[in-house]
Amino acid sequence: MPLIETEAIVLRTHRLGEADKIASLLTRQLGRLRAVAKGALSRRGRYGASLEPLSYIKVWIYDRENRDLQRVGSAEILESFFEMQGDYRVQLAAQYLAEVSERFLPDREVNERVFRLLLVVLRALKRSGEINRPLLFFDYWLLRLGGFLPDLSRCMGCQKSFAGQDGFYDPVAVALVCENCRTGASTERVSASALGLVELFRRTRIEQWIEKESSPPCTQELRRLLEQIIEAHLEKKLTTRALLADAI
Ligand SMILES: [Zn+2]
Repeated sequence: MPLIETEAIVLRTHRLGEADKIASLLTRQLGRLRAVAKGALSRRGRYGASLEPLSYIKVWIYDRENRDLQRVGSAEILESFFEMQGDYRVQLAAQYLAEVSERFLPDREVNERVFRLLLVVLRALKRSGEINRPLLFFDYWLLRLGGFLPDLSRCMGCQKSFAGQDGFYDPVAVALVCENCRTGASTERVSASALGLVELFRRTRIEQWIEKESSPPCTQELRRLLEQIIEAHLEKKLTTRALLADAI
């Protein structure tokens, strides 16, 4: 049974019996997996604060191939995202990132870019305390890297560019159409300014976007559209999405 060293972000943990924890991890070298940490709940647990939700850690994993549950050998913390979660809105946003990563990313599929995406978005959340732009950035790139992002610049029907016109979201086709091509299903209007936002951050690093400008007014509108698209692909409602909608 090989012992593999990897970086990881802890997505979620839960108790297993009296002393153990099961951690759902997004690892850099092995993709997303679940692993049991023996003794993680005991008083002199050797994992310290490393197995807390959203911690960025270095972890050694006994890789039991073809098994559903791996085993944590040891872990040490590289960066904590624990304190920022004292702010309830930030905590919900962090839980949203964990929930989407857990459901959206296939088991054991290595994806370096998604790993880095989650890390930079967590850092942006921690530094700014802002919800909308970090989550929008995450949603956009997660969909795009996964090949699930519909064209946000032109109508799926006639291919005409939206160029300053509103679009309409069709939840059945999971795509945007123009005023002329919309059907009874595409009732949700997406403003031209929300669609225009994509150009603002598409070629920018998240740190620059957040530090240099203030949040544009349509950020939340575009974020909510992308959340709907994520849910459409998951074919399941996200628990944290509803909570976030109530909180901000
Ligand atoms: Zn059209």
